[in-house]
Amino acid sequence: MSNKNKSIHEFDINLICEYFSSTERQGPGSPEVTVKALGFIDHLTNESRIADIGCGTGGQTRVLAQHTPGQITGIDQFPSFIDLFNRKAGEQNLQNRIAGIVGSMDNLPFQPEELDLIWSEGAIYNIGFERGLNEWRKFLKTGGYIAVTEASWFTEERPAEIEEFWQDAYPEIDTIPIKVAQMQKAGYIPVATFILPENCWTEHFYVPLVTVQEAFLRKYAGNKTVEELIANQRHEVQIYNRYKEYYGYVFYIGRKI
Ligand code: SAH
Repeated sequence: MSNKNKSIHEFDINLICEYFSSTERQGPGSPEVTVKALGFIDHLTNESRIADIGCGTGGQTRVLAQHTPGQITGIDQFPSFIDLFNRKAGEQNLQNRIAGIVGSMDNLPFQPEELDLIWSEGAIYNIGFERGLNEWRKFLKTGGYIAVTEASWFTEERPAEIEEFWQDAYPEIDTIPIKVAQMQKAGYIPVATFILPENCWTEHFYVPLVTVQEAFLRKYAGNKTVEELIANQRHEVQIYNRYKEYYGYVFYIGRKI
């Protein structure tokens, strides 16, 4: 495999954490879209228990806290993301509403039927969409909601180059009707799906990273790994610009039966 096509997961973890630590989000998304998805979810109260899985530094968790009642636990595998998560929560005076903990999405620290809502933006692919929906379901109360974003195909057919890119990055990518059927089969009523608008990829994700890339190349001048990482990231943006009519992120919202 050429370096250009190397998966982001093959780079040094500390480097990846530093790279993504200075942006508000670590994946495509926006405050408007988080609030829109939340609009499909009812019955949350001050007693509600919410988990944000693969929360990163908590950009979307803070938006959630500002628009819902209840207690939110953010979980991420990277301690440096969780440190930032908790620091930013304190800065916005949200420390009584949200708490970040280090943990893994394949071994969640919740009790059966403890949660009213499971949130996960741009992260369920790490365990796989179907596996995540199935394994996380037991932590939800009956009638509780799950809301996740997931890479999805918009069309039945697409050019070979983009097909290969995703086969490499995340072979579980599939069309929206197939993902909805998987959600239903996993024991949820599919409540809503919608495609994330383009600005979730551009304005809120790729654009802020341009400054980070320039700073990284200056700070680590001559470092081959860093140069590769940035080349890889820039390639991803080119792929997005070329093929964005064929794929994107979709919000899938379901209610546990
Ligand atoms: N939800 C955030 C971050 C998305 S990036 C946002 O939308 O901005 C995906 C996140 O999943 C990263 O922070 C990564 O550290 C986390 N992650 C990856 N594998 C994980 C695992 N097995 N358990 C917990 N978190 C994981």
